[in-house]
Amino acid sequence: MYGVIGITNMFLEEHKEHVNNEHLHSLKFSARYLLALVNDILQINKMEEKKIVLENATFNLQSEMNTIINSLAFIADKNENVLRVEVDPAIPEFLIGDELRLSQILMNLISNALKFTHKGEVVVTAKLDNVLENIYYIEFIVSDNGIGIAKHDQEKIFDKFVQIERKDGDYQGTGLGLTIVKRLIELFNSKLVLESGENIGTTFSFKIGFLPDETLEKGMNAEVQSIAVGTGTFRILVVEDNKINQMVTKRIIERNHHECQIVDNGYDAIELVKKEKFDIILMDINMPMINGYETSRRIRDFGITTPIIALTAFDKNEVEPQAAASGIDGVIIKPFEPSELFQLIAGLVKNS
Ligand code: ADP
Repeated sequence: MYGVIGITNMFLEEHKEHVNNEHLHSLKFSARYLLALVNDILQINKMEEKKIVLENATFNLQSEMNTIINSLAFIADKNENVLRVEVDPAIPEFLIGDELRLSQILMNLISNALKFTHKGEVVVTAKLDNVLENIYYIEFIVSDNGIGIAKHDQEKIFDKFVQIERKDGDYQGTGLGLTIVKRLIELFNSKLVLESGENIGTTFSFKIGFLPDETLEKGMNAEVQSIAVGTGTFRILVVEDNKINQMVTKRIIERNHHECQIVDNGYDAIELVKKEKFDIILMDINMPMINGYETSRRIRDFGITTPIIALTAFDKNEVEPQAAASGIDGVIIKPFEPSELFQLIAGLVKNS
């Protein structure tokens, strides 16, 4: 999918005369849809095998909610909806829990609310429900005044691939969103509650308990500061066995005015970094002969400290622990937004 999406983007960049070509846009759209579908199926599969374990890290609920709202603002505009967020000031600023999974739940529910509402309002609320033994139980409510869900469909929508009739020509979901949401909420030992009336609107709610992080003071910023992307040219080594992926990554690097050198296996990478200096190494994980983890480990064994970023199609949560243990400094999931990659590169090069 990285190849398909990457090459479509390349084609559109090279042939500006086709920028408005409907077929090309459909190709890009279908590729993204297929990618979402594959990822959703993989995630369901993982949940069914009980392979998802919730993380416990400190996060700031208010800023997490703001990030979610900002990233969905364009869907809100598309259907001319107003999107509002209300966070109860009684909720501690810093909580301990799985921010990523929580945001996945909220993103799914809010984007559904926005998709199935036109010229209406979507309100997202986080309300302190009660505090028991220092656990803060927060009720999350996503409420819209859109098309609603008929009583007889309300059970069905949680099943895999179920989508009630499509009212909007360009709407395309995978029909797996609510299945994933329901199961993620169960992982938090909670339950998703649905209230809906046709042409009145829909409200989804759930309660999750979090411990507060009392070691951080009010007003502190728990988020990593974003680092401005520098303007210098980096020498980048790409370790990747797949020819199409090599072409796509090289193109992304060169379009951003950096130098790119490619090797197609880990052994060649180890030999090359012993002789030449690079600013950054982009490492595929799944390679024959010697994988990205082992290659990175051996590079570190030679005392080479060049930052290494794993570029992989695997799930980030799955990759990160092993990546860190192998001396890898960051993980980016393919396909990625080039700005995301270059921001990470700039930060790592600056620190190294
Ligand atoms: P998808 O959004 O990809 O179609 P979901 O599993 O997220 O799949 O949702 C399944 C179906 O439930 C949707 O296709 C839609 O018919 C219905 N639905 C979900 N959320 C809402 C909502 N807020 N308002 C109306 N219908 C909804």
